[in-house]
Amino acid sequence: MKALKKYKFWFLTGSQDLYGDECLEHVASHSQKIVDCFNKSGKFPFEIVWKPTLITNELIRKTFNEANLDPECAGVITWMHTFSPAKSWIIGLKELNKPLLHFHTQFNEEIPYDEIDMDFMNENQSAHGDREYAHILSRMEIARTTVVGHWKNENVQNKIASWMTTAVGIAESSSIRVLRIADNMRNVAVTEGDKVEAQIKFGWEIDTYSVNDIEKYVSDVSDEDADKLVDEYYEKYEMLQGDKDDETFRRHVKEQAKIEIGFERFLEEKNYHAIVTHFDDLGNLKQLPGLAIQRLMEKGYGFGAEGDWKVAAMVRLMKVMTAGKKDAKGTSMLEDYTYNLVPGKEGILQAHMLEICPSIADGKIGVKAEPLSMGNREDPARLVFTAKEGKGIAASLIDLGTRFRLIISSVNCTKTEKDMPNLPVASAFWTPEPDFYTGIESWLIAGGAHHTAFTYDLTAEQLGAWGEAMGIEVVYIDEKTDIRSLKRDLMLGKSIYG
Ligand code: MN
Repeated sequence: MKALKKYKFWFLTGSQDLYGDECLEHVASHSQKIVDCFNKSGKFPFEIVWKPTLITNELIRKTFNEANLDPECAGVITWMHTFSPAKSWIIGLKELNKPLLHFHTQFNEEIPYDEIDMDFMNENQSAHGDREYAHILSRMEIARTTVVGHWKNENVQNKIASWMTTAVGIAESSSIRVLRIADNMRNVAVTEGDKVEAQIKFGWEIDTYSVNDIEKYVSDVSDEDADKLVDEYYEKYEMLQGDKDDETFRRHVKEQAKIEIGFERFLEEKNYHAIVTHFDDLGNLKQLPGLAIQRLMEKGYGFGAEGDWKVAAMVRLMKVMTAGKKDAKGTSMLEDYTYNLVPGKEGILQAHMLEICPSIADGKIGVKAEPLSMGNREDPARLVFTAKEGKGIAASLIDLGTRFRLIISSVNCTKTEKDMPNLPVASAFWTPEPDFYTGIESWLIAGGAHHTAFTYDLTAEQLGAWGEAMGIEVVYIDEKTDIRSLKRDLMLGKSIYG
């Protein structure tokens, strides 16, 4: 799995030459101090790069175009320290193609009551200059995130850091390559979609190979390599053999080790970041990829089942956006399976045939090899666990025929009331916001799928801002949702994007 680029963000300060050299020296030193403070704070997931003050049309245009061409630059942060006439920014802004944050701050926190004079006022007038700048951004309908407040304020810093995650999602989205080794499950609607439009909108490349192309890589895995990996499994996981004897169980597990190694070699060699399988199209594979896919997801690959390339790409996008996050709790594909409808205990049991990412596991992970009760293969080995408690988001990207809609549901994960000793797959259990009934009614009205891309580690805003940057409708289902306003949102979405 290739590591992410070392992304950086540029800090651009606006001014003009009307105030004299001394003032411009102060402007430059102030913005340098802010950038130094940010970089030393440990709050930002990426480095911020200070750039010389922008005071002319030519320099603004040149700097923005340098940002466009720098593959490591994931976004620009702009701040008008003094007044910077906004006509100077028009051409540069027109050409800028990186995510933009408008940072509305000022160097001093307090008005210096005893010393303040007109020189101070001219030098520290972002309240004035940033309005001129924001006006032209609004007039030009330039998408941006606006953060308001003193630069030392923790909340302000957190908002900028949060935007960086979205910016990296925007930067990485256009590099996502999905490998499909099966087509869509017969007759299923929601997993279908327009792959050309997905490439135009999101930059995703979605290619199909025959399952036997990749199966060759599996059968070529040496016994030695497979056994080494099986030993690792035996060390790391609890083996829940059931009524299988040692040798039979190990043989089942080894098949998944071969799949993990073979699939990863194929993905790496051909530079794919996500994979799609289908239980009904397994070619020469002896088992449905279960444990193998679970571990690949944990390594950062996206995954979608039954031909679902949209979920595979979304899981990969979430993996990329949350890579390196401190105390991350995990990201996985999940599927709405069955309900608990007991009043006061309502929730949705999330699972899949096998393929849930162990990054979301809470505590011990076991390995089982049980019949699938579908298809005609060996009992596939799979990792079994239950998911962590806590808040998360479940996302569904659907194709409405003429456009995409991204639905983001805020959910609260809890433990099920009782253990489920006979359930041979990993699972999560959650209740959507604002409550079970409104959350699910909203999901159904919005047309959300049964497969979702789920994470504990992004906010709805972070993912929603990615969707907005892609130019698609984003529907939020959260603590503020009520059915009447949701319907109004969908009508508005239709009139804007339809
Ligand atoms: Mn499924």
